[in-house]
Amino acid sequence: MKVLKFGGSSIADASRIQKVAEIIKAEVKRGPFVLVLSAMKGITNLLIQAALLAEQGDRDYLTFISRIKATHATAVKVLFSEQKGKPVLHDLEQLHGELKDFLHGVELIRECTARILDLVMSFGERLSCMLMTHYLNECGVHALFIDARDLIVTDDAYGNASVIYSQTYTRIKKYVGGIKQVPVITGFIAATENKVTTTLGRNGSDFTASLIGAGLDAESIEIWTDVNGVLSTDPRFVKNAFTIRELSYEEAMELSYFGAEVIHPKTMIPAVDKNIPIIIKNTFNPEQAGTIIKNKIKKHTAAISGIACIENIALLNIEGGGMVGIPGMAARIFSILASAALNIIMISQGSSEHSICLGLKQNEALEAVRSLNKELKKELESKTINEFVLIEELVIIAVIGDNMRGTPGISGKLFSALGKARINVLAIAQGSSERNISFVIHKKDSARALTTVHKAFFTTAKAANHGSG
Ligand code: ASP
Ligand code: MG
Repeated sequence: MKVLKFGGSSIADASRIQKVAEIIKAEVKRGPFVLVLSAMKGITNLLIQAALLAEQGDRDYLTFISRIKATHATAVKVLFSEQKGKPVLHDLEQLHGELKDFLHGVELIRECTARILDLVMSFGERLSCMLMTHYLNECGVHALFIDARDLIVTDDAYGNASVIYSQTYTRIKKYVGGIKQVPVITGFIAATENKVTTTLGRNGSDFTASLIGAGLDAESIEIWTDVNGVLSTDPRFVKNAFTIRELSYEEAMELSYFGAEVIHPKTMIPAVDKNIPIIIKNTFNPEQAGTIIKNKIKKHTAAISGIACIENIALLNIEGGGMVGIPGMAARIFSILASAALNIIMISQGSSEHSICLGLKQNEALEAVRSLNKELKKELESKTINEFVLIEELVIIAVIGDNMRGTPGISGKLFSALGKARINVLAIAQGSSERNISFVIHKKDSARALTTVHKAFFTTAKAANHGSG
């Protein structure tokens, strides 16, 4: 049993849906599998915009509903004859009607809570899966629509709910296990124990696929998307970036966290649990082998596996003679930022304890300074700490790979390459997993730094069959 997940861009319109159906028809001959789908491309965003307009009492939300409706109806017109399209349109129309009623409710109450927004967003996946189920049956593949809200149980953290694994796996086994048809399961959406709709976070359908795979003890989880796999680095900056053939779960998690947006980072959790390989495949180039993410990967000669880049970063420097040897200062700083819901991306502190340096998203940095100024007023007045220094227009580059562990000389090679290219490094962090060295540089140096590091580590490695494509 396999799981195949297709993302929004793979089912963006009728011709793409036909491509997906071809892939599925070929799969039917190979053995049993389950499908997981995202919403059609752009639909989740339209749903969110519609909800926000309705909340403001702006009746323009109706235009957004019409656009959502038109996207699906246009696909139906191409995929079905007029006669056969009727029951499909009827089913879709029912969902659209429901959506319109809910949004009318939002318009009247002028409030769209996170809970309501999850319900509104759920229509994207319900519509796409309804449409695909009909189309597969039309193509002679016996398919069955399944609403993941009956399978995936979460807490009530709307917008980014946490999965309750044991209940979820039990339900998946019970409700999907014995199905003879091809199950077409809605990605992204879930429900609490009390059957209130939740979602798994933006791009969460990958995670759904992995949960279904783990629940069914699948042999593999295929994530079909619009690129050949995980790339060695950002191709916008480095033109000879290549597709990585194999990654360990940990490497994939690090890379996806650090901006290689091919796969949702949480996807790895259920797969690791059950040791199921995840394969990234390209819907528009299915012959490509893609990237396989699994437990034990083949030995490769490159010291690193990939280089990620996170843009729009600011560094916040917290310095002061009074910080030395005083326990709890870091804890206070972190809890101040946590209470303001600000996310710290990178931390570096020298052993002199004289300064702590935090990497934050640019758009959260000013707020961070404001909260710290407010909460650490006394320390600032008594000059225990100096005024905060904010440096903006930066990027974090993360060099990632299991091979770095216990291998001396990697940071030497990395920083001497950067030094030779005269790239100034503002801060450095390495976790003790030794799987990731992150450093901060000025935005203007990003392309040069990525090219330099890519060249330093990959020129010979690619020849040694680490990559393809
Ligand atoms: N449709 C959802 C989103 O756009 C989930 C997904 O695409 O995976 O975030
Ligand atoms: Mg996606």
